[in-house]
Amino acid sequence: MSSPNRRRVIAGNWKMYKTQAETRAFFAEFLPLVANTTDSDIVIAPPFTSIATAVEAAKGSNVAIGGQNLYWLSQGAFTGEISPGMLAEAGCRYVIVGHSERRQFFGDNDGTVAQKAKAAVADGLTPIVCIGESLADREEGRTKEVLSQQFLGGPASLTPEEFSRILLAYEPVWAIGTGRTATPEIAAAAHSFIRSCVHDQFSAELAASVRILYGGSVKPDNIPGLKAQPDLDGALVGGASLDAKSFAAIVNC
Ligand code: PEP
Repeated sequence: MSSPNRRRVIAGNWKMYKTQAETRAFFAEFLPLVANTTDSDIVIAPPFTSIATAVEAAKGSNVAIGGQNLYWLSQGAFTGEISPGMLAEAGCRYVIVGHSERRQFFGDNDGTVAQKAKAAVADGLTPIVCIGESLADREEGRTKEVLSQQFLGGPASLTPEEFSRILLAYEPVWAIGTGRTATPEIAAAAHSFIRSCVHDQFSAELAASVRILYGGSVKPDNIPGLKAQPDLDGALVGGASLDAKSFAAIVNC
């Protein structure tokens, strides 16, 4: 996994799971398991209500906390939304942007992904910008077309300087929460294609330095095959990040 100049990132997306008490229990079990991990950036994105608890529990450790979503303005009459500055003040260093569940159920699209990523960077957060094709897209042979469209409509609208501060996540929708992981070869081909999009839009330098995570049913037993692919720089993990031992096994693979 990853080239020597791209530090790997393992991020957990807890989705709408874990109360504050469950968050405390997770960290009590998880932190000792990764205390000696020095070769990866470790991130956990809990639900908003558990962020403060997670930040407190992770204080002084090698685990950073992220939000799962944000709005792009700093304040206003936007019921139910949360701003980049609020996440940063709460202790978040990362934020997931454009997850397929947000695109599918909550109206996120390439344009809002671009606005959210820009706003996150402006407030010092590292956005983890997700793109990925659906099963129908893949079966109809439109994977590259869809990835290119999502890339061009979303993160490609950042300036090169802004782009240098983001992470990309390739998350094929058909592999999320389905137990159906992309084979390492399928993931590697998509990562290589996304890197070529970065090259064409920005530069060889940014294509070489951008870190691209793979997401979609990553588990302790399939991470070794994914890790062996040089274009994969880490993982965005849903289900398996809810269990301290499983997530630590992925981190420590
Ligand atoms: C995700 O939520 O980003 C994800 C990849 O979920 P899972 O690992 O459960 O497929």
